[in-house]
Amino acid sequence: MSDDRNSNYFADTIAVREGQTRTPEGEHAEPIFPTSSYVFDSAAAAAARFSGEEPGNIYSRFTNPTVRTFEQRLAALEGGERCVATASGMSAIYATCAGILRAGDHIVSSRSIFGSTVILFNNFLEKFGVEISYVDQTDMQAWTDALQSNTRLLFLETPSNPLTEIADIRKLSTLAHEHDCLLVVDNCFCTPALQRPLELGADIVIQSATKYIDGQGRCVGGAVIGSEQLVGTDVYAFLRTAGPSMSPFNAWVFLKGLETLSLRMQRHCQSAMDVAEWLQQQDNVTRVWYPGLQSHPQHQLAKEQMQDFGGIVSFELSGGQEAAWRLIDATQMLSITANLGDTKTTITHPATTTHGRLSVEERHQAGISDGLIRVAVGLEDVRDIKNDLARGL
Ligand SMILES: *Cc1c(COP(=O)(O)O)cnc(C)c1O
Repeated sequence: MSDDRNSNYFADTIAVREGQTRTPEGEHAEPIFPTSSYVFDSAAAAAARFSGEEPGNIYSRFTNPTVRTFEQRLAALEGGERCVATASGMSAIYATCAGILRAGDHIVSSRSIFGSTVILFNNFLEKFGVEISYVDQTDMQAWTDALQSNTRLLFLETPSNPLTEIADIRKLSTLAHEHDCLLVVDNCFCTPALQRPLELGADIVIQSATKYIDGQGRCVGGAVIGSEQLVGTDVYAFLRTAGPSMSPFNAWVFLKGLETLSLRMQRHCQSAMDVAEWLQQQDNVTRVWYPGLQSHPQHQLAKEQMQDFGGIVSFELSGGQEAAWRLIDATQMLSITANLGDTKTTITHPATTTHGRLSVEERHQAGISDGLIRVAVGLEDVRDIKNDLARGL
């Protein structure tokens, strides 16, 4: 077996080459290993594997060659020592919390995080004695004020969904470390092609591979990336036992997704910028949120910590919910769905879908108005995307 692993390559090379171990068949593309278990040469060899004396595959809940190739490639792209793949982005977040926290610990989280993450924190982690406080993610003072002696994790997504607020990863990692806490960044909107939080000081990166890493809307999966101790030991210990693991088939889809990720992200960003600038010129659009616009409140910070500005654009119409629904229903090509990170452009009304379970006041606090629309710009010709939006404007 020859091992192609070599992290001295540049990122685009790593995305194509890292982590592949060729079998004696000499296959060029990475194989899928759909096997639940593995055989051993002898009883003694089995014993050595199980005791951990000898490395190698044991059982696909926690060791599978296709999954491992994906993990090594993504770890190298994020600049982390270890990556563990999970069944979904949500199980990546859950495994991180379960592997690291104990009853009595406290999390300070940005208020602007994925809806299911809020439910996971409030309905499940709290049940096991973990306390959560929420803060405005662009307010450094609020993060500092929320820290308690039992705070263990700071948690955020940047840019946030749907208002693309940018959190200062470098400053927040310094704050976390001054208080003996870990900074966890959900890097789903950026992927390592646009932002590498570990290089900015974060301790753990979460990915929902379902989004841009697949990029074509086919599979659900996730990953946790960080140090050998935190991810390779603490998070992995929970995962291998609790079992929200990634299937070899999904790992293979994500692995091939990584090979074209940076090319796809370039186009997502380029078209999103085009759509954002165009929306700014439309009469009944009262505001556009996109980190690449000069008018974005954290445009400077976005330029410093991101390679490019991402594929998500949000905008507000003057006519409230009625106008928003009218525009959404007037589109003929765009997909009306809450998903994002697909080749196909998607359009969402956050107030009645992704953020519909929040109370009116919570929604107001999160800045989600009734006229707000989120577009996840896909890879179609951008002229067709703008033409489709123009129908309802
Ligand atoms: C979709 C998403 C998740 C959850 O990922 P799943 O793969 O759907 O479980 C977590 N965080 C963010 C920012 C997301 O967009």
